[in-house]
Amino acid sequence: MNKTGRRPIDRKARLQIPRVPVPKQSPEERIFNFHEVYEGYDEETVVIEATRCLQCPEPQACMTACPVHNGIPEALWLTSQGQFFAAYDVFRLTTTLSEICGRVCPQEKLCQGSCVVGAVNAPVYIGKIEAFLADYVRKHGGPDLKPSRKTNHRVAIIGSGPAGLHAAEWLALRGHQIDVYEALPKPGGLLRYGIPGFKLEKDTVDAIIERIEGLGTRFICNTRINTPGHPSIDDLMEEYDAVLIAIGAEIPSSLRTEGEDLPGVWKSLEFLIATNLPPKDLPPGTHIPEVKGKKVVVVGGGDTGSDCVRSAIRARAAKVTLSYRRSEAEMPGRKEDRGFAREEGVQYEFLTQPIRFIADEHGHVAQIEIRRMQLGEPDASGRRRPLPIPGSEFIIDADLVVLALGFWPDEKFIKQTPDLETKKWGEILVDPETAMTSRKGLWAAGDAVNGPDLVVTAMWGAQQAAKSIDAYLEALDQPATQPVDASETVSAVA
Ligand code: SF4
Ligand code: SF4
Repeated sequence: MNKTGRRPIDRKARLQIPRVPVPKQSPEERIFNFHEVYEGYDEETVVIEATRCLQCPEPQACMTACPVHNGIPEALWLTSQGQFFAAYDVFRLTTTLSEICGRVCPQEKLCQGSCVVGAVNAPVYIGKIEAFLADYVRKHGGPDLKPSRKTNHRVAIIGSGPAGLHAAEWLALRGHQIDVYEALPKPGGLLRYGIPGFKLEKDTVDAIIERIEGLGTRFICNTRINTPGHPSIDDLMEEYDAVLIAIGAEIPSSLRTEGEDLPGVWKSLEFLIATNLPPKDLPPGTHIPEVKGKKVVVVGGGDTGSDCVRSAIRARAAKVTLSYRRSEAEMPGRKEDRGFAREEGVQYEFLTQPIRFIADEHGHVAQIEIRRMQLGEPDASGRRRPLPIPGSEFIIDADLVVLALGFWPDEKFIKQTPDLETKKWGEILVDPETAMTSRKGLWAAGDAVNGPDLVVTAMWGAQQAAKSIDAYLEALDQPATQPVDASETVSAVA
């Protein structure tokens, strides 16, 4: 054994072990349901896959590439030994949401994409192992979580997406009373309302909420802060010792194109909510689109575009097409999702840009005028700029259009918060060290600060904010902290 307690391993032999595939639903089966595509490892197969890890010396490429720097080699070693609870605890040192990250992180660009095994064989399926561990622990009683102490401090968190949930759990484990305000009928934010069930089932989100509620956290839903009839930020700051803004970025970008406001032209988030959630979880007044038998065109090349086309397929559209203005090589969305979408029958029109939505005699969208594009020099994003090809316009039929063009933080919410400084594009400005905003006692994290980004990145920002809030509360009123039974310690995420 070496000094870490791990036995020496035969790296050459390990490199030859083939990747253990994860069972998944066939395309023919999955287009009829919203269950996850992957069915997950079992206790035997996960051990074999974890054994493929070479236990690289520091600095391990996988850990460096993981935005939260999960202790991947140690977790994989413990998994290979069948110590699933201990392996999960290693992940929990840096993330409370392994069941989410293991499913929705673009692992091929992060941990897995950097795994050295990938140079000669398929890289270790790190995300799938992380998801297995979180699911295994949950199915076997859940992690043993106890607050390390009890304080009299109260923290309000606005938003229950990944940043809000991570901060809520972390701060609850530090003994603070947490209230999470959510504008929609159920907690979960983007995880419930923005990510379809075929990538992340709602049961998993429910289980996370229950776990956090088990720590005494309250979720106050149907409450949109800074709107008439609901508390303002100032109300919350008066009532609570600290307030964290974790509202994400949910205001859709516009194409600024003729006919964009026609009936039948949908914003991506509205479409995903209406097609993915059971009626009881829908916001009041949600309009359900008629998709069955329709020709659907989705515009946009990101993950949201992929989610929309695949939702349309499951809603029984007759034909689903995705239009993207650059080539496939420039697409920001996950390649894996694209592969799934193609298997499910989605057609792609690359280098195309809608320039006009055309109504039928009833005023409903019926056609799109599209222009072909070509690639020019790279723009500020580093991707080649799409340029119109003059005279290339053509018209296609479309009964339903979904615009999946990206999101921005809610400018209205931000403007209604006095003295809150913002960046050039309206994101909230925070101290890079503490995540505190320009107002003392008010923090912000996640997409509201960074613009639309990964779930794991939002979580990392929330971790920084939560630590800063905890330190602030301790300094604010030390005598208010009452130690509890010293034997009660935080079992993970400390
Ligand atoms: Fe990989 Fe994401 Fe998990 Fe990090 S958090 S190990 S990047 S799946
Ligand atoms: Fe294991 Fe791959 Fe990370 Fe190396 S890079 S420690 S082989 S997971």
